[in-house]
Amino acid sequence: MTTMTAGPRAGHSEYKEIVDALVEFIEKAVVPIEQEHAEFLKDENNIFNARGLMTEKYLQISQQVREMSAEAGFYTLYGDESLGGAELPAAAIVEIQETLHHRYGPERSLIHESVIPSPFTNGLSPLLLKLSEEVLAPRIDAIRAGSSTLCFALSEPDAGSDVYNLKTRATKVDGGWLVNGQKQWISNAAHAKHAFVFAITDPEAVANRTGGITCFFVDTDAPGFSVDAGIPIMGKRGSNATILSFTDLKVTEAQIIGEEGKGLNLAMGGISRGRVTMSATCIGVAQWALDQALDYAKTRKTFGKTIGQHQMIQAKLAEIARDIYLCKSAVQRTAALLDAGMPAVKETSIIKFSCTEMLGRVIDEVMQIHGGLGLTNELGLEGAYRFARTLRIPDGTSEIQRRTVAKRLLAGDTKL
Ligand SMILES: Cc1cc2nc3c(=O)[nH]c(=O)nc-3n(C[C@H](O)[C@H](O)[C@H](O)COP(=O)(O)OP(=O)(O)OC[C@H]3O[C@@H](n4cnc5c(N)ncnc54)[C@H](O)[C@@H]3O)c2cc1C
Repeated sequence: MTTMTAGPRAGHSEYKEIVDALVEFIEKAVVPIEQEHAEFLKDENNIFNARGLMTEKYLQISQQVREMSAEAGFYTLYGDESLGGAELPAAAIVEIQETLHHRYGPERSLIHESVIPSPFTNGLSPLLLKLSEEVLAPRIDAIRAGSSTLCFALSEPDAGSDVYNLKTRATKVDGGWLVNGQKQWISNAAHAKHAFVFAITDPEAVANRTGGITCFFVDTDAPGFSVDAGIPIMGKRGSNATILSFTDLKVTEAQIIGEEGKGLNLAMGGISRGRVTMSATCIGVAQWALDQALDYAKTRKTFGKTIGQHQMIQAKLAEIARDIYLCKSAVQRTAALLDAGMPAVKETSIIKFSCTEMLGRVIDEVMQIHGGLGLTNELGLEGAYRFARTLRIPDGTSEIQRRTVAKRLLAGDTKL
């Protein structure tokens, strides 16, 4: 049996102070909460109820962490300055994601999901900049404080990759619209106070694939908004992904984000940061796994030597390092492009499918290096394997990323 290494080497980047302060906050404030609830958090029956939804007690603990993080100034690091955030650039987000996943591995949900929300679909999302003051003003303080969270409800049973296949319909009535339909896979929806809901307002434009989908900002306790179930994913009893339905949910003009009929432009406009964030997560988790493989390779003996002295294990270690190094360089370069104001559509697609697929290969090989121990969850490797497998689907599948890259290349965007 091996022990985990201390985590990443101290870097010397321009964001080092922020990253160090964040790690210190987590060590001093969040790890003690994890320890206090260690027995509770160990059993997933305590985290998900029979409907696959997160339990009240788990939600209370995660809210406590969010509010502490907001109080300490970390919860809003990725948010727009005009909403009260620190508006960190993509390069800083990359460094934070990578460091936290390298240090803590993939499964510490209180750290990864509560300390800083996702940069586009939750917290001080830039989408809030396009909401009317009348709707935003009474809600923004609670969002900034981590007391209220958000979800992004686009996907449906018949519309994942192909968003123009949406069925949720907003029908015009006196003073607004009535929304009817169902959403599927919506992360964080079970405990969100507000949702970005995408619905068809112009069926003809949707049929022509020229627009016609509007994004509405909705309170999840509004009449007609229902959380149906959590979706069990990859051997778990539930997940953060949820099924929602809307029955005559009333929305008004003031609840529109951006312009009527232009919701998809908004949705696509923010995906780059999400993809960079996920890619950096993969780099961090892969380094966490490599640390474990190195520890084990140095201590486990077979045929009179440590397994790290067998050339076939050495080759695996070298290939893992190559994979991580190449992906990490590409993620940093893509973040720099985004920070320079480039759309980097092709590049964010390249890193999304490369990093998620790289992580799958790396965890698989690290499990192999651990022999039978790799198949248990003693070191968190089995959980990491399931985690890595999920990432090739959300935020655009690997196939959709390849499709995007090829379309850009064929349209003349060939600079690499
Ligand atoms: C854990 C998780 C969290 C999620 N969170 C959210 C969320 O918060 N909000 C939200 O709105 N959605 C969310 N999603 C939904 C996610 O975006 C979709 O699952 C994803 O876009 C794929 O859609 P689908 O599952 O309907 O698969 P489909 O689109 O039906 O695809 C099925 C298969 O066909 C392939 N395929 C489809 N079209 C093409 C093509 N043109 N060329 C080649 N292959 C193709 C796909 O790659 C895939 O392999 C989440 C999903 C998961 C699993």
